[in-house]
Amino acid sequence: MDFTIPEKLELLRKSVAEFAEREIAPLVEDMEKSGEFPKQLIPKLGEMGLLGLVTSPDYGGNGMGFLARAIAIEEISKVSAAVGITLQVHHMGCWPIETFGTEEQKKRYLPKLAREAIGACSITEPSGGSDVFGMKTTAKQEGDYWVINGRKCFATNSHIAETFVIVARTGEDAKGRPAFSAFIVEPDFEGFSIGREENKVGFRGAYSGELIFNDCKVPKENLLGKEGEGLKIALATVNRVGRPGMASISVGLCYASLEEATKFSKERVLYGKPISNLQAIQFLLADIFSYAEAARWLNYRANWMMDQGLPCDTEMTLAKYVATENAFLCARWACEVHGGYSCILEYPVQRYLRDAWVAIPSGGTSQVAKIVLARHVLKNF
Ligand SMILES: Cc1cc2nc3c(=O)[nH]c(=O)nc-3n(C[C@H](O)[C@H](O)[C@H](O)COP(=O)(O)OP(=O)(O)OC[C@H]3O[C@@H](n4cnc5c(N)ncnc54)[C@H](O)[C@@H]3O)c2cc1C
Repeated sequence: MDFTIPEKLELLRKSVAEFAEREIAPLVEDMEKSGEFPKQLIPKLGEMGLLGLVTSPDYGGNGMGFLARAIAIEEISKVSAAVGITLQVHHMGCWPIETFGTEEQKKRYLPKLAREAIGACSITEPSGGSDVFGMKTTAKQEGDYWVINGRKCFATNSHIAETFVIVARTGEDAKGRPAFSAFIVEPDFEGFSIGREENKVGFRGAYSGELIFNDCKVPKENLLGKEGEGLKIALATVNRVGRPGMASISVGLCYASLEEATKFSKERVLYGKPISNLQAIQFLLADIFSYAEAARWLNYRANWMMDQGLPCDTEMTLAKYVATENAFLCARWACEVHGGYSCILEYPVQRYLRDAWVAIPSGGTSQVAKIVLARHVLKNF
């Protein structure tokens, strides 16, 4: 067993951290106020190789893989979790095309997505994200097209994506349950429009919007995978890309909380000494550190397993559940260290708390994660 992070990935961590400080930190205040994503960042994310991290060199990416992605998203999210989720859902829009797509689809979409365009993956509908069988959007084949009707919500990157992987109901399976298929949709397809943008408490600057399909005509060659494979594609993408992505953002928030709390504790003087001398404050720092390390290493293990091609759905769910819950606790403890200053917008710990809260349902709630984990426990212990 070797827990050493390869030198190549440590170099990646350093260069992404520098990039985030230089290119993203100056944009955060405006993103918080406006809720808008700074589009000028997209080509820079491409130049840094961040858009193409999980896309193979055959299709224009750098194929650095999932552990590299975890480290990169962690460093980005220490500065802006909103840019972190934009990037992580972009990868959710790339991976299923490479994994389930035809050669023609890969050549058509992936090189651009690896360099200069943003992708998205939209499954959730107003009828409930946890209840995937409750999805109501339908797709019917008519001649050379699939005609899609319905509505998606909470679609990250809704207003900037150039490619959407979506899932719609296309019939019933052999057991009479709804069957779903996946499609690649472009923004200018007839009958497709972007609806309202949600005004969120956290991840401000990352878009979460509605996708509206009104007799939307999708060319039949844009069916992703086989007809009826939509649920398989959606669950694989959420489990193997979405959950570790949310875990990586949350690990970034844990460490951002640790750094800010430690810095503040050394600067804030009470009773003639920095509050870092108080054991109650030291215990908070120890807790933040412990929960951050636990989240980080569960996430690295899951992503390393993904890179090795090992089955890792349980490990991904575990990493996501622990990291998102820990990020919220770490941010809360960092706020406690700050006392009243945690309530002032100038101090970033309040943003970490809001972002960590929003990370918990994104990619599946903690209750849904616990159902998956309990099933594993009952089967294996
Ligand atoms: C910022 C953000 C970004 C997102 N980005 C995307 C995206 O890009 N693409 C996408 O497809 N989706 C996205 N989502 C949607 C996200 O996946 C859903 O919010 C999530 O799956 C939960 O669905 P819901 O919000 O409809 O809650 P519901 O499913 O309505 O859940 C409500 C409550 O019921 C609980 N619950 C549900 N089922 C059970 C059960 N069986 N047992 C016990 N409790 C249960 C839940 O845990 C929760 O507490 C995003 C969400 C957010 C907040």
